[in-house]
Amino acid sequence: MVRAIREGRSTAFFDRGIVAQFDIIIIGAGIVGLATAWRLRHERPALRIAVIEKEAEPGLHQTGHNSGVIHAGIYYAPGSLKARLCKAGAEQTKRFCEEHSIPFDTCGKLIVATDQAELPALDNLRKRSEQNGLDIRMIEAAELRELEPNVSGLRAILSPASGIVSYGQICRKLRDLLAAEGVVFYFNASVTGLKEAAEQVTVETSQGSHSARLTVACAGLQADRIAAMSGLADDFRIIPFRGEYFRLADRAGNLVRHLIYPVPDPSLPFLGVHLTKMIGGYTTVGPNAVFSFGRETYRGNGIVLSDTARSFSFPGFWKLMARSIRPGIHELRGTLSRKVYLERCRRYCPELRLDDLQPYAPGVRAQAVGRNGRMIDDFLIRQTARTVHICNAPSPAATSAFPIGAEIAGRVLEKMA
Ligand SMILES: Cc1cc2nc3c(=O)[nH]c(=O)nc-3n(C[C@H](O)[C@H](O)[C@H](O)COP(=O)(O)OP(=O)(O)OC[C@H]3O[C@@H](n4cnc5c(N)ncnc54)[C@H](O)[C@@H]3O)c2cc1C
Repeated sequence: MVRAIREGRSTAFFDRGIVAQFDIIIIGAGIVGLATAWRLRHERPALRIAVIEKEAEPGLHQTGHNSGVIHAGIYYAPGSLKARLCKAGAEQTKRFCEEHSIPFDTCGKLIVATDQAELPALDNLRKRSEQNGLDIRMIEAAELRELEPNVSGLRAILSPASGIVSYGQICRKLRDLLAAEGVVFYFNASVTGLKEAAEQVTVETSQGSHSARLTVACAGLQADRIAAMSGLADDFRIIPFRGEYFRLADRAGNLVRHLIYPVPDPSLPFLGVHLTKMIGGYTTVGPNAVFSFGRETYRGNGIVLSDTARSFSFPGFWKLMARSIRPGIHELRGTLSRKVYLERCRRYCPELRLDDLQPYAPGVRAQAVGRNGRMIDDFLIRQTARTVHICNAPSPAATSAFPIGAEIAGRVLEKMA
């Protein structure tokens, strides 16, 4: 079976037509679902656990289309789940990588203010980092020039603990380890329904039904659709935001040594277009954030009518759009013109040229939005008697996946007690 999983063949082949019985079924083999399976497996090795994933491989959506940054936890409101779980997650991610020979690089990160107007926001980030117990320091222009001769700015926050990794690689390792320890994987199996009864949950899929005492949904971009199957998604919807990147040409690939971020717009939960060294040895610039007409489309115009209709039919979407006209136009201009995109990066890295920006695959973020049109900032976990749903797991959920998995596992085991 392990070999079948490695080869991308569905293990459901062995069970087709059979209703299998498990203690716990996890929907979604992104990093959050797999980290949850990992924690449950280690807390209770005797539990029969299955992971159901609609794709042929783990980590093909947000987890495999992100910046690969191990965030330190700078941006997040003190006391929030994001702040708490990101800091612990960064440490646990690095430890997992060390234990399983997965490459990562603690290259450090600089958040660079390029004009006077950004200094108060930079200082707020410094205070927030201190409240979150992080090891950061403020550096002035001269030290910035020493650390990064090709970056210009007035002042910056240096976060030495930030780093990079391939979250896709972590997922593939988790799949192999879990499968070897007896966790059953159903790939190419799309969950189509959940039926909760007093003693069990039936999980209907495109490859037959399975039942479990408890079910955990970690469905990322489809989180609202799965949560709706448990009656938990009336007041929020996943609104997809496309993040477009460029890969820097080899000439510019070594322009920076750290991850270089702008000071983010405090009205948005996105971090701004940044220069990111990638674990494959190249550098990307991005991602921006524009509304996406499809949730899981990475090529072409990306329009999926059912996804678009789901966004447009939600009142919160229109309220969000009405409130976001200015930043929306700002982001759209960057999408329509490579020159505009370049100018934004040149504010902190003037060395970049237009021909440095080479095509690179975009990602799509799952952002939960409430009926009032506000983006739900923190991670959101909801539950019924026999299901636990992670309804909002945007960045830094990849960094935070191991502690999110522990949080979910705790809730599941409490229900089992
Ligand atoms: C552009 C971009 C940049 C980002 N950068 C970073 C970063 O640098 N650092 C960081 O920490 N975070 C980052 N993030 C956020 C991070 O990638 C996500 O928070 C994280 O990957 C969420 O993991 P997940 O497992 O919840 O979702 P996903 O990775 O999307 O996985 C969900 C899984 O559920 C499956 N699924 C959905 N519906 C069904 C169904 N009906 N049946 C069966 N399976 C189903 C999907 O196929 C998918 O495999 C970024 C995200 C994006 C998009």
